[in-house]
Amino acid sequence: MERNPFKIAQAQLDEAAELLKLDPATHEMLRWPMRELHVTIPVRMDDGTIKVFHGYRVQYNDARGPTKGGIRWHPGETIDTVRALAAWMTWKTAVVDLPYGGAKGGIICNPKEMSDGEKERLARGYIRAIAQIIGPEKDIPAPDVYTNSQIMAWMMDEFSKIRQYNNPGVITGKPHHLGGSRGREDATARGGMFTLREAARVMGINLEVDEENFYKPPHELEKLPDRIPEGDAVTCAIQGYGNAGYYAHLLITRMFKNVRVVAVSDSKGGIYNEKGLPFSDVFRTKKETKTVVEYTDAQKISNKELLELDVDILIPAALENVITDENADRVKGKIILELANGPTTPEADKILYNKGSYIIPDFLANAGGVTVSYFEWVQNITGYYWDYEEVYEKLDRKMTKAFQDVHSMREEKKIHTRLAAYLVSVQRVVEAMKTRGWV
Ligand code: NAD
Repeated sequence: MERNPFKIAQAQLDEAAELLKLDPATHEMLRWPMRELHVTIPVRMDDGTIKVFHGYRVQYNDARGPTKGGIRWHPGETIDTVRALAAWMTWKTAVVDLPYGGAKGGIICNPKEMSDGEKERLARGYIRAIAQIIGPEKDIPAPDVYTNSQIMAWMMDEFSKIRQYNNPGVITGKPHHLGGSRGREDATARGGMFTLREAARVMGINLEVDEENFYKPPHELEKLPDRIPEGDAVTCAIQGYGNAGYYAHLLITRMFKNVRVVAVSDSKGGIYNEKGLPFSDVFRTKKETKTVVEYTDAQKISNKELLELDVDILIPAALENVITDENADRVKGKIILELANGPTTPEADKILYNKGSYIIPDFLANAGGVTVSYFEWVQNITGYYWDYEEVYEKLDRKMTKAFQDVHSMREEKKIHTRLAAYLVSVQRVVEAMKTRGWV
């Protein structure tokens, strides 16, 4: 299949549209963004010259509510990447039943070569360029590749100046003291854990929930001693040790009593110890040496070998297209929790489904991030802020309901989980479009 992401997004929709027997007009509406804005942003650089940057904001579909999606800063950004990601946000917000549509933004730039002052001027310039089409009731951006809470703070400030009142609900992923939500930092991995608990239940795998620690925040969980169950405990391998991967290691070993993480990796390679890898020591090694491979009480393995280990749970949390038709028949994970976006190709999906593996597809597995972003927006517009436990309990309810909706569709139609998730989402968006009288 062609690797243009927007063509892939359209092909995925086409498969769902066929199964849902969508009429041609509805199908055509869903194949394209409803609105896209291309902007040029002049920025005075530190050397006194003016550089013109190109940016986009794509609003894919707002039938279910204001659109939502991150802003990426990347030298290789293209309009088709932004379109595809905006489409995927539409399906992601629908699968967790948030009152949102989907959007995405991007600026072609290399933030690694820019000073903080240049980044601030670019952030503010972008918001001035797209201010007409965003706002808490229209379209709510968030951080994504190479953007962070500081950039969100500048953007929120610029928008508030344009509107002439404080407007925290225009953007999520802000620092906590400017209206950011508790629980945002580990939201993606945490949401994944809730879906993992449900998938284990249907697969008859006993993770043993730790009731006492289940809703504790990361800074409290980090202080708990490492617990490594022995013998025939459930085993797990994690690819990637960034935000998604290291929180997955922390949470899976603290929220459940019967899981042993036997392998982890990063871009430098992987490590394996069948007796288990303690979070505290591996995380310290990663912090001090910038890689997990320096951890000594383990055997070195490649990223390729990690994916093919005989484990019960496999968590791809790094890159796209790592499980393909070339290795899928050697992948042994009974549950594959896709915290990364797009780790499994369509051919591999079918191979794994036929082998009996349970894939929790990316736009369900990693929807915890956007769900806590939604909670941030709710807290901003009501002006009432929640504690960690309240955030995690609400996240659990949302993720569990989403999992159950997708699982029921999978069982009813006897299809792989990603396609089932598509059917649930597309049906929801279509229902809103039809009730509004668009199609
Ligand atoms: P990150 O940049 O914090 O970490 C990425 C990790 O992947 C790093 O440890 C890096 O060393 C590792 N890596 C890079 N190349 C690798 C390779 N060839 N093999 C193995 N590991 C490699 O990124 P992140 O935020 O953890 O995101 C990881 C994935 O999760 C991405 O696909 C991202 O889109 C997805 N995701 C993240 C979030 C979030 O809130 N962080 C939300 C949704 C989806």
